[in-house]
Amino acid sequence: MITFEQVTKRYADGTVAVSDLSLEAPTGRITVFVGPSGCGKTTSLRMINRMIDASSGRILIDDRDVRGVDPAELRRGIGYVIQQAGLFPHRRVLDNIATVPYLLGWDKRRARDRAAELMELVGLDAGLASRYPFQLSGGQQQRVGVARALAADPPILLMDEPFSAVDPVVRASLQDELLRLQEELHKTIVFVTHDIDEAIKLGDSIAVLRVGGRLAQLASPAELLAR
Ligand code: ADP
Ligand code: ADP
Repeated sequence: MITFEQVTKRYADGTVAVSDLSLEAPTGRITVFVGPSGCGKTTSLRMINRMIDASSGRILIDDRDVRGVDPAELRRGIGYVIQQAGLFPHRRVLDNIATVPYLLGWDKRRARDRAAELMELVGLDAGLASRYPFQLSGGQQQRVGVARALAADPPILLMDEPFSAVDPVVRASLQDELLRLQEELHKTIVFVTHDIDEAIKLGDSIAVLRVGGRLAQLASPAELLAR
């Protein structure tokens, strides 16, 4: 479980991006942060893997304050997926996915086997393994991004608008795939979006933020639909 305890983030210029945020993202569930642009979604996500540190309050992963964990160690347990997949442009698809296993010192054969397995898991045709990212569609690039984030089998997955840059039809199929994957993998997922329909489709629980980074509501999809 990931716990936010009265977390506030004030940037150096005085902007308060997140304000007194307290909530829990349960283990094995998808928690969605939803709200308009600028409401502190990305800031909240990046405080979990310590790309940004909170100004006050605490974030705990299974009762361990992330501030007490070395960031490199912390990130080995946390996959991160962003809007523009952020793939290495000069590495083929298979090597993009195998990057983390290589860094963890797996031998090349095992890392590549793992990458091939992940391609299948996220619905990428094996024939794409030797392509470069620019030779893929937007939807395929996002699948590679998800596969790469899953490579070291981290228990936590942070997803920042991962499907926002693809067209609606592809987006819907990526959402379906994520739900299917989650049935199998039971990751603790924190998913950021500005799209309330996406939040309702994917979230087990939904944190609605408003500008200033305040929690307006923490609700189930059914509760939000009934509003
Ligand atoms: P969201 O992901 O919901 O769009 P962000 O977390 O990116 O929101 O930003 C929240 C607020 O913090 C916004 O007002 C944004 O302009 C501001 N902000 C983000 N990063 C910085 C920064 N490095 N320095 C100052 N302000 C920032
Ligand atoms: P999507 O609906 O997933 O966004 P696209 O319509 O963009 O797919 O692409 C359709 C097909 O064309 C995909 O199988 C993709 O691999 C292929 N494709 C797209 N761009 C390129 C490219 N620059 N070079 C080779 N194949 C490409």
